[in-house]
Amino acid sequence: MYSDKMYELGSKSSVIREIFEFGLKRKAEIGDENVYDFSIGNPNVPAPDCVKEAIVSLLENETSTYVHGYTSAQGDMKVREAIAASLNERFDTQFKATNLYMTVGAAASISLCIKATVTAETDEFITFAPFFTEYKVWTEAAGAKLKVVPANLETFQIDFEKFEAILSPQTKGVIVNSPNNPSGVVYSEATILKLCEILKQKSEAYGHPIYLIADEPYREIVYGDLEVPFLTKYYDNTFVCYSYSKTLSLPGERIGYVLVPDAMADSKKIYAAICGAGRALGYVCAPSLFQKVVMKCIGQTSDISIYKKNRDLIYEGLTALGYDCVMPQGAFYLFVKALEEDANKFCERARDYDLLIVPSDDFGVKGYVRISYCVSTAQIEKSLPAFAKLAESYR
Ligand code: PLP
Repeated sequence: MYSDKMYELGSKSSVIREIFEFGLKRKAEIGDENVYDFSIGNPNVPAPDCVKEAIVSLLENETSTYVHGYTSAQGDMKVREAIAASLNERFDTQFKATNLYMTVGAAASISLCIKATVTAETDEFITFAPFFTEYKVWTEAAGAKLKVVPANLETFQIDFEKFEAILSPQTKGVIVNSPNNPSGVVYSEATILKLCEILKQKSEAYGHPIYLIADEPYREIVYGDLEVPFLTKYYDNTFVCYSYSKTLSLPGERIGYVLVPDAMADSKKIYAAICGAGRALGYVCAPSLFQKVVMKCIGQTSDISIYKKNRDLIYEGLTALGYDCVMPQGAFYLFVKALEEDANKFCERARDYDLLIVPSDDFGVKGYVRISYCVSTAQIEKSLPAFAKLAESYR
């Protein structure tokens, strides 16, 4: 026998995957360049040169055991020291290696935070629509529930009235993702201040901490002079879940970390619980080579200016055609209002023009589509006439 729950998760692929697979078939039929695949968030911008240089240098100059051997379960001490020093320089903080746990990307980081803090089946985690679909999977896998605050469709910032209505003594944590997948919005400092104020009040009222889980794989992918507030500075009980998947274009290498600040209540015990969750889930010793690669590439990112160029092109192109969307401030997604109520039907019609876009339903919002613009600039340029025909078909 097998677990029905795991069978369901494994056999029902996500809508994004399903569209991506359709795209592969269609490309085989009519050629890659004729399919405008905006389905998946796989960075198209190459990893910066430092990645290759670090790999070559590590392979040529270090012993096999150092490069490929097990590190401590929580990650190589020198790697964690270097990451802590870099965070301290950027955010004026005082983290140490012992505040960090290296992971196989943000997926593992978030799973660890949830697993480490769930104490009862009734525990709830709250997130804000539109949200990254896997939060539900990770929360339920840890034996808790995910509650979703409906979106503020005007700004895609937080709707605080609806948030307060969902908070309850069962609330164990709140997951925030800024810059956001799929809206591209960055939560303003005013939003963060208000969120943290409410969390402080409610933690006190309920007599237990409500953890803030900051999901930050897009932290450095922002456009213009925008500050992304660093949440440990606003709220003590914050876990930072970081990943190098997007900022260094390394999604297949699976590398990231969880940060547990000393200021968190019972910080040492919580850190031990993160280590315990790592043991329980088998997420010990993140890839050794890539721990060292990210240490050597500290402070570097892939060329974000390409995403900015793409953002400007697609935002201006689609709004000129009459599409309605919020200007993304970060990440590499555009969240566009579908031209009919049912976003699934709209995406099906888009396929007639070889436009592969993702309906918003699984992100917790109806009537929108997500366009991942981490594709070649040429693809965006070429796709605009197809978006024009799609809009025309509704007139
Ligand atoms: N969180 C968000 C918002 C994401 O968009 C993604 C990946 O697309 C993840 C987490 C998972 O990232 P990772 O590759 O680091 O596991």
